[in-house]
Amino acid sequence: MGTPLIDNPATPSDGLMRASDGRIMLAGLGREELANILADFGIEPKKIRMRTKQLFHWIYNYGVREWDDMTNIAKPMRAKMERVFSLARPEIVERLISKDGTRKYLIRMAPGIEVESVFIPDVSKTGALCISSQVGCTLTCKFCHTGTQRLVRNLTAQEIALQVLIARDDLGEWPTTQENRKLTNIVFMGMGEPLYNTQKVGDAIDIICDPEGLGIGRRRVTVSTSGVVPDIVPMGARTNAMLAISLHAANDELRTQIMPINKKYPLAELMQACRDYPSLSNSKRITFEYVMLKGINDSPKHARELINLLRGIPAKVNLIPFNPWPGTDYECSDWDVIERFADMVNAAGYASPIRTPRGRDIFAACGQLKSESEKMRASEKRRLRESASESMGEYDNL
Ligand code: SF4
Repeated sequence: MGTPLIDNPATPSDGLMRASDGRIMLAGLGREELANILADFGIEPKKIRMRTKQLFHWIYNYGVREWDDMTNIAKPMRAKMERVFSLARPEIVERLISKDGTRKYLIRMAPGIEVESVFIPDVSKTGALCISSQVGCTLTCKFCHTGTQRLVRNLTAQEIALQVLIARDDLGEWPTTQENRKLTNIVFMGMGEPLYNTQKVGDAIDIICDPEGLGIGRRRVTVSTSGVVPDIVPMGARTNAMLAISLHAANDELRTQIMPINKKYPLAELMQACRDYPSLSNSKRITFEYVMLKGINDSPKHARELINLLRGIPAKVNLIPFNPWPGTDYECSDWDVIERFADMVNAAGYASPIRTPRGRDIFAACGQLKSESEKMRASEKRRLRESASESMGEYDNL
C-alpha cells in the first residue's frame, strides 16, 4: 500500500458520503466506486480488484458493520481502512411498524435530505421494499401526497442502495444467502419519478441485483413511472427491470387533469413506449397502476376505455383504493364500484387485483409518502388514523 491520498477531511468536497465522524461511508457504493476509492486510498493497482471483491462481499452479502468481522482481510489492513472508511448507515430518523406488519423508514441521508422507504410483507408470498429515487418530486400528480413536496434533489445510487441495506438490517436478513428471506422484491414507487434520475437508478439496480451482493433478481425489481416516455425503453434496455406505469386514467383529458405530465407525453406516445418495452411477453407483463378515485375515474365507461387502451399489450392492472392524506379533495371509490371495475377488466382478460391498502395507520400507503410527514398536525394524524382503521376494517374482510 502506498501513501494514502484520502485523509478523512472534515469537509467533503469530493461528493462522497460521510458518517457523523467524518469517515467515508462505503455501504451503498458500487464496485467501480469502491475500486476508485481504494485506488485513491493507495491500494496497489494489482490488488484493487481483489480488495474490491472482498469489501463488496462483506458489505452486501454479510451486511457487516464492524471491520473486525472481515476475517479474510489482515488485521493491519483492516485497521488502516477503519481509520478512513466507515461501514455505518445513515441515520434512521423514524421507524414505524404498522399493525399489518408494514414498516416505514424515514432516513436522513444528509442534512435536509430525508427519504422514506416502506417494506410491505406478504406480497406474492414474499415481501417488497418500496424505495425512493428523489427527495420530493417535480411532478404534481393530483392524488399523490409526495407531489405536494417540492423537489430537493435526486438521490445518488448509494442513497438508493442504502435503503435496501437498511431494510435488510432491520429485518435481520443477513447473510444474503439466508433462506426464506422476506425482502425479495424492490419497487421504485416511493418518493420521486425514477425516470428523472435514470442514471442513478440504473446504477443502483446494478448494485441491488449483483449476484455476489444483495442478489435480488432483475425480474424482481420494478421501476414505476408516471410516463416519462423518452426514457422508458432505454431504462428497460439498461436494467432489464420490470415496468409499471402510473396510469390512473385512460383518456387524455382526464389523465392530463390528474397527472399534468400527460400534457407533455400523451397516452398514444406512452402506450407506444410500452409496446416497445424490451422483452415484453406474457411472463414479463407491464403493470398498470390505477388509483380508484370516487366519481373521477371509476365508472364502467372508464373501465371500457382502459380495456381499449391496453389492447395488445401484455399487461396486468393494479387497482389501488385511494389512500387519503391531509388536504386532498379526493375520496376513495366505494367498494362495490371498485369490484365492478375489477370484474370488467378481468373479463377482458387482464388480471386486475385490488391492492389491499397497507400501512395506512403509519401513512406508509401508496401515494402517502412525504418526508415532511413529521410536520403533520397531531389532530390531522388522529383523524387520518381513525378513517384508516375504519376502512382497513372493510378491506380486512376481503
Ligand atoms: S405519483 Fe410519483 S411522479 Fe406523481 S407526484 Fe407522486 S411521486 Fe411524483
